[in-house]
Amino acid sequence: MTRLYNFCAGPAALPESVLETARDDMLNWHGRGLSVMEMSHRSTEFVGIAEQAEASLRSLLAIPDDYAVLFLQGGASLQFSAVPLNLLPEGGCADYLNTGQWSKKAIAEGKRFGTVNVAASAESNNFSTIPPRDSWQLSADAAYFHYTPNETIGGVEFHWVPEVAAPLVADMSSTILSRPVDVSRFGVIYAGAQKNIGPAGLTLVIVRRELLGRSRAACPVMLDWKTAAENDSMYNTPPTFALYLAGLVFAWLQELGGLSVMAEINRRKAEKLYAAIDGSSFYANPVELPSRSQMNVPFTLADANLDKLFLQQSNAAGLLNLSGHRSVGGMRASLYNAVPEAAVDALIAFMQDFEQRNG
Ligand SMILES: *Cc1c(COP(=O)(O)O)cnc(C)c1O
Repeated sequence: MTRLYNFCAGPAALPESVLETARDDMLNWHGRGLSVMEMSHRSTEFVGIAEQAEASLRSLLAIPDDYAVLFLQGGASLQFSAVPLNLLPEGGCADYLNTGQWSKKAIAEGKRFGTVNVAASAESNNFSTIPPRDSWQLSADAAYFHYTPNETIGGVEFHWVPEVAAPLVADMSSTILSRPVDVSRFGVIYAGAQKNIGPAGLTLVIVRRELLGRSRAACPVMLDWKTAAENDSMYNTPPTFALYLAGLVFAWLQELGGLSVMAEINRRKAEKLYAAIDGSSFYANPVELPSRSQMNVPFTLADANLDKLFLQQSNAAGLLNLSGHRSVGGMRASLYNAVPEAAVDALIAFMQDFEQRNG
């Protein structure tokens, strides 16, 4: 059976060679007579798999030794609560930037635990811009500064790292591993796995060790990063198969040449698609040029009545999951690492053909 091109925003495409390895390992991992799913998470075999995954990730992102790498559950959404529970003292205050739907959810959750200062918001621009740095109203005593480097729904991405005094906390769910990033600039980086890391069910947290141990007394033990760090992410049973698969994805990225090679491929993919959109009056992308996402490209048709036909025909042409988020409509092509350049070429060819037939 042919595998089709998958532009899903998440759970997203996985590298084919990773799936092939997982298939070959499925019934009998490395001749041990059982699958990874059936192993004790305390076994030498699985501990080795987890250690290798962490080592590969540390190498890919050049994660400094004074950062802990945690493999957790609950998705990025549970980190919306874990961040304040770990970093925000009772009666404390934190700064948040509002650049889209995921920022808003993080803000709403932060408000349960203390004072949230929205330093700037792009909501009045329909989230098509990033508020300029000199417009941000930062609090003097913020426990941390939270932002969303890539808004998966709006397709808005920071191509720079904010400079603020408070520890920087970033929801990198949809941009992590798409390019190199200077981890030392951040206090905390977190990401749900199902965009650029592996299958759903795994959540990555990278945290500067000096930020551990600040959690509130009421912080559930399963949300306390310090507990996870002290137990090598095995305080309880981790999502073993998802972690194993993430390890295969990390190894795939290493073989490819690492994140600067990946970044170059991603830049090319996005540039081509935006050029096709901008070169036609039939398609449009609403985001200001300097803040366009390389990972998630939303676009609209001049005539929204054609949306349904576009989605039907693109799907029939083997281009899957191009509908925009249910909250915004239109189309969205997610171009994560595992989406090959050939998929983007096929999408552009389809778009041009569709325009000729319907424009
Ligand atoms: C997908 C996504 C989330 C939600 O992730 P879950 O793992 O489903 O909780 C949060 N933030 C961003 C930026 C995302 O792309």
